[in-house]
Amino acid sequence: MPKPTAALVFLIAAFSYFLFSPSPKPHYYHTLFLSSPFSDNASIASNLRTLTRRPHVAGSLANAEAASHVLSSFASSSLKPRVAAYKVSLTYPVHRSLSLLTPKASSSKSIIAFSLEQKHLGDNPYADEVTPTFHAYAKSGDVSGPAAYANYGRVEDFVGLNVSGAVVVARYGKIYRGDIVKNAYEVGAVGVVIYTDERDYGGEECFPESRWMPPSGVQVGTVYNGLGDPTTPGWASVDGCERLSEESVELRGDSPGIPSLPISAADGEVILKTVVGGVGPGPGILNLSYVGKTVLAEIENVIGVIKGEEEPDRYVILGNHRDAWTFGAVDPNSGTAVLLEIAQRLDKLQKRGWKPRRTIILCNWDAEEYALIGSTEWVEDNRQMLASRAVAYLNADCAVSGPGFRASATPQLDDLIKQVAKEVRDPDNTTQSIYESWIRSNNSGVIGRLGSGASDYASFVQHVGIPAVDMLFGGGYPVYHSMYDDFTWMEKFGDPMFQRHVAIASVLGLVALRLADDEFLPFNYTSYASELKKSAEDLEEEMLAHSIDISPLIKSIQDLSTAAQEINIEKEEGVKGALRVREVNDRLMMAERALTDRDGLSGRTWYKHLVYGPSKYDDYGSKSFPGVDDAIDNAKRVKTKASWEHVQHEIWRVSRAIRHASLVLKGELR
Ligand SMILES: [Zn+2]
Repeated sequence: MPKPTAALVFLIAAFSYFLFSPSPKPHYYHTLFLSSPFSDNASIASNLRTLTRRPHVAGSLANAEAASHVLSSFASSSLKPRVAAYKVSLTYPVHRSLSLLTPKASSSKSIIAFSLEQKHLGDNPYADEVTPTFHAYAKSGDVSGPAAYANYGRVEDFVGLNVSGAVVVARYGKIYRGDIVKNAYEVGAVGVVIYTDERDYGGEECFPESRWMPPSGVQVGTVYNGLGDPTTPGWASVDGCERLSEESVELRGDSPGIPSLPISAADGEVILKTVVGGVGPGPGILNLSYVGKTVLAEIENVIGVIKGEEEPDRYVILGNHRDAWTFGAVDPNSGTAVLLEIAQRLDKLQKRGWKPRRTIILCNWDAEEYALIGSTEWVEDNRQMLASRAVAYLNADCAVSGPGFRASATPQLDDLIKQVAKEVRDPDNTTQSIYESWIRSNNSGVIGRLGSGASDYASFVQHVGIPAVDMLFGGGYPVYHSMYDDFTWMEKFGDPMFQRHVAIASVLGLVALRLADDEFLPFNYTSYASELKKSAEDLEEEMLAHSIDISPLIKSIQDLSTAAQEINIEKEEGVKGALRVREVNDRLMMAERALTDRDGLSGRTWYKHLVYGPSKYDDYGSKSFPGVDDAIDNAKRVKTKASWEHVQHEIWRVSRAIRHASLVLKGELR
């Protein structure tokens, strides 16, 4: 072969420049996003240290300082951030006391007054600033009654117990604490204390020597049963807006009916020694007194935007909350550190010439701990815009608490999550991908569903019908919502090298990049159809027993499966032209919306999604077909013909929603 001439070399070089240099394909940037020069575990650690320096409950000065840190770090990542502020109703403790009257063997009685203090362990200089332990939105009051043990406080735990007039002692760990209080109230209890049982949260050694909860540790948290600011149900808490009075809020029934307090393992143990047979009620008598104050406080969501180049009016939204009950190293600032890491990496990509096809919005929410308030008010404020423009919402809350990847999502995102998990190394076993470790774990690669009200995705999925995902490394961790969830815990036990943070930023960020840059939205609705089929099959036996016809549901799911296959073929066959591509993408985006119904679930109308919602008896639990589930539950209690007919009606309702989703995917008018 003759030697190439200089002119030829120049031509080849110019051609390659033309081909590759001015606008590399998105895939080039996505690979760069995952590369090690782009990730920065030291900066993650430093951000987490800054964010968790002081306790920063919603409405506090320390939380405003944390907001400015997020604002300035978004700004240094060229995000042009802004603050979306709301005025919302928050509560704080003013007075708490708990005492136990125990009949002694002799005629004398003894009284134990509990200190309700968490011991300062380790060397955190701001331990004094932690809010006294309490339940947000707890009812104020002074109540006395025999102590009665009700295990985890689930509906089934109260069966056969007479707790009327008693102060219930329940342990944390199976259901949402607000539902424990509600369940106790409904069976006539006058007050509730919820303790952290060592069997669930303790170990041989405890923090700061090991990861386990110390005996004096207390899990605080909210006991409100609704979402968003209680005084503005369904609309945004903007300054000067309409607000419900305290009486109207109470009448809505989402506020607890009796006072409650969270207590430590040590205090719980002392109380339980005074109940007969370990259950009671009595003879130990508990006196619980709580006074809270309600404050109209300003909260700040920090919003950063990277405008899309070709479709600026399509939004890929990434969110995490910032407010914490205490220091919040796991909950939620591991997620905040991940969000800031993603912002930095996206900035580096932009400096290399990357421009996203669609707009990416980064949101740092406030007052999540109270009732998912920051995200809910923002979604209520922007409902129409989000309903017509949001492609997906990606959430990180307790992003890192240990090893092991987990994800929950609406099912059209399942394939994308798996694809991305295959491209990122497992930080705890770098010889394999996160996906390989995940499918070999106890969880065996199963993706959970987003019906619950456990984090900020709730409004996006359940109120508007936006596809969403939540992901993390770890899972439940023992010092949750206690004063020991601090930087030291994270550095010693949660993620000593901060490589799990790096990995979750890679997965979450790459999911966002694919949603923002892929020509066709990477949604696969065949997974949705097969998930729905499984849920329908779970209903089959019980429905048959009550002569309820589920064939409309089965038929609608079959149609969805066909429509999903058809749109996949359409994508593969290569639709040409920007407007045609956009039309296909709109169908993929809007199909999830079709699963919502403007009337919402009966009796809890804020929840518009008919396929995924929280269980009525456990806000942490996710239910498929929540309307059907509510109706079955009601029919089992009232046992009337009409109540079973209502189950049939709910089957029809969800079938119609699924049919609408198929029509949207097909893009055909009938
Ligand atoms: Zn959280």
